[in-house]
Amino acid sequence: MSLYGGVELGGTKIVCAVGTGPDDIRDEMRFPTLGADEALPRICGWLLGQGRLDAVGVACFGPLDPNPSSPTFGYVTTTPKPGWAQTDVVGTLRAALGVPVGFDTDVNGAALGEWRWGAARGLDTFIYLTVGTGIGGGAMANGRLLHGLMHPEMGHLRVPHDRARDPFEGSCSYHGDCLEGLAAGPAIEARWGQRGECLPPEHPAWALEAHYLALGLVNYILTLSPQRLILGGGVMAQAQLFPLIRSEVQALLNGYLQLEPLLRGMDEYIVPPALGGRAGVVGALALAEIAAGS
Ligand code: ZN
Repeated sequence: MSLYGGVELGGTKIVCAVGTGPDDIRDEMRFPTLGADEALPRICGWLLGQGRLDAVGVACFGPLDPNPSSPTFGYVTTTPKPGWAQTDVVGTLRAALGVPVGFDTDVNGAALGEWRWGAARGLDTFIYLTVGTGIGGGAMANGRLLHGLMHPEMGHLRVPHDRARDPFEGSCSYHGDCLEGLAAGPAIEARWGQRGECLPPEHPAWALEAHYLALGLVNYILTLSPQRLILGGGVMAQAQLFPLIRSEVQALLNGYLQLEPLLRGMDEYIVPPALGGRAGVVGALALAEIAAGS
């Protein structure tokens, strides 16, 4: 039976696992995200100690190069994260481990994990969005993870910003008040002076948060025609957001799309990840499974 290694390279933590899926994790290790010079040898050493693996998958923060025909395939490219810009992640792991290495964004990995084992089973076109220290989206379109020019960067969508309702300028270092700049965790903290998890469920922060996320989701719905939207990440641990977002999306669509999934309160259309916070590392195992077969 095949055995895989999965590596979730996240903005704040790195999670490594060995197994075949969410119900069969044989071993796991996590540590805070260090620079690549320290982190990659630690990952390789741990995986080498796990015995024979058939392939490894890496679900990684971006921007990165996921195009196998590109000379910089497998690199983290222009990230501002210290010690990671222009890092050859796949080449390093392949040289150390001698097995095929699958590679994609953390959110495409999570999308794949949800498709293989979670909330997107049986679908061929859907979105996985994470809302945490940043906002990022992965997508499957017609049964394939979406790449194209590079990979989607859904967090940096432009959304209407009513400065009378919300004078906050936005916190994206590139765009100010893009969706991430208005609705990621750091924006909530900067606007209200407290971290989101310290704000009570009835605080007006959440209606505003739902408003911005719904604006983003409506644009994704109209562009990619997803059969489902899966919303994960630290901010989405605020469960009161889901009903607020669903009703705001319905209000914004204003009856334009008379489709059954959009008419039942959207409880099965806008959903949390079935794999919870493990979607990333489990998705990395799914990337490994594909790499082993290719
Ligand atoms: Zn931005």
